[in-house]
Amino acid sequence: MIRIAVISGKGGTGKTMITAALAHLLPGSLVLADCDVDAANLELLLSPKIIRTEPFMGMKTAVIDPTLCVQCGECEAHCRFEAIACDGDAYRVNPLRCEGCAVCTYVCPAVAVTIQPRQTGEMMYSDTERGHLVHARLVPGAGNSGLLVHAVKKTAMEQDRNCDLFLIDGPPGTGCPLISTISGVDIVLVVTEPSVSGLHDLKRVVEVCRQFRPQILVAVNRFDLEESLTETIQLWCNEEKIPVIGKIPFDPVVIESVRNGVPVTSAGASPAAQAIQMLGSNLEQELKHYRDQRK
Ligand code: SF4
Ligand code: SF4
Repeated sequence: MIRIAVISGKGGTGKTMITAALAHLLPGSLVLADCDVDAANLELLLSPKIIRTEPFMGMKTAVIDPTLCVQCGECEAHCRFEAIACDGDAYRVNPLRCEGCAVCTYVCPAVAVTIQPRQTGEMMYSDTERGHLVHARLVPGAGNSGLLVHAVKKTAMEQDRNCDLFLIDGPPGTGCPLISTISGVDIVLVVTEPSVSGLHDLKRVVEVCRQFRPQILVAVNRFDLEESLTETIQLWCNEEKIPVIGKIPFDPVVIESVRNGVPVTSAGASPAAQAIQMLGSNLEQELKHYRDQRK
């Protein structure tokens, strides 16, 4: 199994649109994961049928037993995250503020506080026309999205370990969810766009990726909106020896296909679909090289 993550330095570059189209195009058996757990939307383009849903117990949180609490206020006074407050008749924990540090359990004279697992999301294992998809939803405001990303990847790799390809729609940015996404992957495809911030974010995300040593590839989406910056991106990638394997033009058909919930490559011939087909062919070549190197 070759593991490929499609990522971007920032949101809104068209990463998910490209992932869905590659899922549609790439040959061989495939398992998919949506690791953009804070804003998962690969499912909007792949129409998954959910096979099973599991709770994700991401954080531990303090719970006060009101029958034991003597309302001394020690827990509130010692909680540095301001997660405990008296709402008039009882002390309560705000789970969105609680970091599970357990200080309140030590200071409570009545042994009224315990630390318990808390559900912070759910993970779905689904069927699509192109293989199984593991996707997830994080409760709004809940942390630990890196842990949920890890759980999503682990489920996909364990359940569908015999697939030829593991295709991941990664999160934007360079934080914990990205690091969790790219750790252990073989190839990352960074989707960028021709803007000053696009180039800046591309450089940042490449710097992070290099620490994990995957093969790095780049695609420029809406390349024709600012061709001089596309040229700058190409030159920078040449200097860094990073292959630019696709340039996709701005195309209103992309917006239409997203609105219709289908990959752009299955929405008929269009300039964007043709460019992504070229991107898919180039990626296949890179996969072939990668397989040959591993022999
Ligand atoms: S576990 Fe820590 S953060 Fe949570 S309520 Fe207790 S003292 Fe505050
Ligand atoms: S420290 Fe314990 S007894 Fe005191 S208010 Fe908090 S939960 Fe209640």
